Amino acid sequence: MIFKILKRLFIYLIFVIPAFFTLSSNKKTIEKFYLIDNTFDETMFMKDIKELSGFKKKLPKKRTEWIYKLTAAVTSYKSHFRTVNVIKRNYKYEAIFTTKKGEIFYFSDGRLLLPEDMTNDKIYRSYFYKYPLGTKSISKPKKIEFPVPVNFAFFDSLYGIYPDERENNLEIFYSLNRKLRFQNLQNASSNLKKVFKEIERAATKDYEVRNWVNNIQYVYTYINRDVRNIKSQSLHSYGIAIDILPYNRSKYLYWYWVEEFKKDWWNVKEEEKVKVPNKVVEIFENYGFLWGGKWFFFDIMHFEYRPELIKYAQLLRDDPLNKSVEINKKE
Ligand SMILES: [Zn+2]
Repeated sequence: MIFKILKRLFIYLIFVIPAFFTLSSNKKTIEKFYLIDNTFDETMFMKDIKELSGFKKKLPKKRTEWIYKLTAAVTSYKSHFRTVNVIKRNYKYEAIFTTKKGEIFYFSDGRLLLPEDMTNDKIYRSYFYKYPLGTKSISKPKKIEFPVPVNFAFFDSLYGIYPDERENNLEIFYSLNRKLRFQNLQNASSNLKKVFKEIERAATKDYEVRNWVNNIQYVYTYINRDVRNIKSQSLHSYGIAIDILPYNRSKYLYWYWVEEFKKDWWNVKEEEKVKVPNKVVEIFENYGFLWGGKWFFFDIMHFEYRPELIKYAQLLRDDPLNKSVEINKKE
């Protein structure tokens, strides 16, 4: 009798309980559904998703970062999205966007992938990384290797797949006494105009900024490129990047030019690199642009419109519990 009960208990422990967990863990549940419109409130959204996680106090770091990345994506491109669903699968949360065009994007920790790319999602890089606001740069990685490319389907969705489609969305305007063409969608060109207006204002009072402005020789923005055969494309082909080249051209503007004569180009000292005034960088960042001069693979002439990355950096900076980003705080 006892033996029979023990046997049953044994079967139960070995087969029934694991089977139950396996079945229940595979089930996908829709936890929350959000309509994204102009009333979208990021504070409420973050609070809601934090509560959804079931943690009463502090969330694990990875989870907090996930929430910040998601919030940054939604707030930065909310005019492009229609809804976001937060689902739970295998105990992990996933967010799924629908765009106003009717496309579906899986958030996938910031990789922003179409459903067909989800089967091999790990080969792509996230759109998100920790961009350092203020005066700091991205430090040297443990191993020097080229990052795997992001999947550009999301930028294609934002700005157009083909060159003619992208060109149609460019705005032509005059700034810094130059004719410029820049992406009109997602407020990219309107923010760039604000950047230059503020730089011009700063130049009247600040000698360093004035000097930088007077020293500009060329400005390059949009590059027409047949992007269909290019794996890793430049953000210039979307019209959301700008290169500002000074008269006194130096090899120390771009890591790739330094590599021609210095194989260990990453050992170039900060003081050898071409200077851009902190004030200029700060103005660009305030309007959603990041500066390539902070990258480990430095590109000092390059600025690009990445409001989601700036937003993510601000959320990390303002999080009182997040110690990992203390180095990025402004002095
Ligand atoms: Zn560039």
